[in-house]
Amino acid sequence: MPITILDYVKSVVGDKDLYTAEDCLASGVDILGGCQGCHATIACYNAYPSTSGYWRCADCIGGSGYATVADFTASMPVTTCPGCGNTDNISETRITTERAEEYALECGDCGEVWQP
Ligand SMILES: [Zn+2]
Ligand SMILES: [Zn+2]
Repeated sequence: MPITILDYVKSVVGDKDLYTAEDCLASGVDILGGCQGCHATIACYNAYPSTSGYWRCADCIGGSGYATVADFTASMPVTTCPGCGNTDNISETRITTERAEEYALECGDCGEVWQP
C-alpha cells in the first residue's frame, strides 16, 4: 500500500502513541479531509496523498499514491522565506490577527513571520 498522511506526520514529529491535530498542523497537513474520488471524509490515518495533489481514501488511491514518505515530501512545494530566501529552517507557528489566531510560518534564520 502507498503511504498515508499519518506516515508522513510520523516522519515529521516522530513515533508517538497518539497523534493530535497539533501534530498534523506542525507537519503542515490537516487532520481531516475529503477523498478526491468518492468525497468520503477521511482522517490523516486513512488518507493517502495522491500524486494529483489531493487526498484519497484506501478505495480510491489506486496507483496514484506515494510509495515512500521521501517521494511524498519531494513532491511538496518548497517554502521560501520572503525575508532571506531560506528554505530549510522554516517552522509552523500561530499569530494573533484582528480576527483570530491564525496559522503562519516563521523563519528560524531571520525571524520573519508570514502567512502563506
Ligand atoms: Zn474515496
Ligand atoms: Zn528568513
